[in-house]
Amino acid sequence: MKKIAILGSTGSIGTQTLEVVEQNRDLQVTALAAGSNVRLMEQQIRRFSPALACMGDEEKARELRTLTKDLNVRITSGMEGLLEVAAEPQSEILVTAIVGMIGIRPTIAAIEAGKDIALANKETLVTAGHLIMPLAKEKNVKILPVDSEHSAIFQCMNGEDKRAVHKILLTASGGPFRGWSKEQLSNVQPEDALKHPNWSMGKKITIDSSTMVNKGLEVMEAKWLFGVDLDQIQVVVQPQSVIHSMVEFEDGAVMAQLGTPDMKLPIQYALYYPERRFLPGERLDFAKLGKISFEEPDLLVFRGLSLAYQAGREGGSIPTVYNAANEYAVAKFLGRKISYPAIIEMIESAMESHHRIMQPKVEEILAAEQETYEFLESRW
Ligand code: NAD
Ligand code: MG
Repeated sequence: MKKIAILGSTGSIGTQTLEVVEQNRDLQVTALAAGSNVRLMEQQIRRFSPALACMGDEEKARELRTLTKDLNVRITSGMEGLLEVAAEPQSEILVTAIVGMIGIRPTIAAIEAGKDIALANKETLVTAGHLIMPLAKEKNVKILPVDSEHSAIFQCMNGEDKRAVHKILLTASGGPFRGWSKEQLSNVQPEDALKHPNWSMGKKITIDSSTMVNKGLEVMEAKWLFGVDLDQIQVVVQPQSVIHSMVEFEDGAVMAQLGTPDMKLPIQYALYYPERRFLPGERLDFAKLGKISFEEPDLLVFRGLSLAYQAGREGGSIPTVYNAANEYAVAKFLGRKISYPAIIEMIESAMESHHRIMQPKVEEILAAEQETYEFLESRW
């Protein structure tokens, strides 16, 4: 029995993680955390019997306690609850499927408690990678990527000498607006940006995919996960989302991982690494596929991607500002408070106004996040 805890169990990655648990008899859920979907959490508790569950706030926790009073489960809330779920004594691995920088403290708490991390929550690594990667090493904890591109890279590197990696080829679908001009993007509405051509995901990452900020975050995520320089990471647009990423080695050999777009593969791979298991579902049919095509990303139209390289190069607290400004702007855009191009304008202006701190501690990262929100609130 492998015991797992999940942060963000009611979301896209969280529910797919539970589907993987359902398909395998040797995984046991010990703790779950979610934001506000009390009904779904109740169903998950009835189905998977965790000892501990956490809701985003105390009001939701109270609702959940009423719904589950016939069950033997302890219900907590807020950051304290997230930290408890992260470090739940029974669990061996924590799936971080929560969205945003709120994942930093729980991820650190889980590593401190010696849990392996199946990492979907990229925002945490982008902003606190300099703290998380050395801590994981010190505690002898594995950080196993769940993001499909990073899982692909991880699979391509399996058994290879890391020093022989020449380049990482991070693939991108290009999103729903691939090939569009700046003018065309100026009138995009939330419902347009929420239509991803190949993947069905949570709202925030779907917007991020449309702006290519998601790819920018993934570039920084790859830097931390694989210990490479940003110059060694090249984004390649591959619109069919069949090649999940590639690695070029010193001798020119390129390894790629291919598959249908299904997050259950990277989730299951992280949970069982290094073992492979049967996974039901569609398989790639190359004859049907016909062709796989490639393009260069348009960095002039999708400036969110070039700003990510800039943020990653400047380092310190700048990636936090990039990420926090994006989290703030995406929420505003989804609430129809700002235009689509304003997302990138907000990121850029926040990055310009910030005074960089090198090697920020957790408190300094969270302060930079707060400062970014306040700056954007006062200016926009
Ligand atoms: P989602 O919005 O579908 O789910 C987020 C989950 O976090 C939900 O369960 C929500 O209730 C929970 N949550 C949010 N705020 C919370 C709070 N304050 N307290 C407790 N729980 C809270 O998001 P998602 O698409 O599943 O993405 C999750 C993470 O995985 C993100 O970092 C995303 O970038 C990454 N990721 C997602 C995919 C995908 O296919 N969905 C792929 C790669 C990476
Ligand atoms: Mg991805």
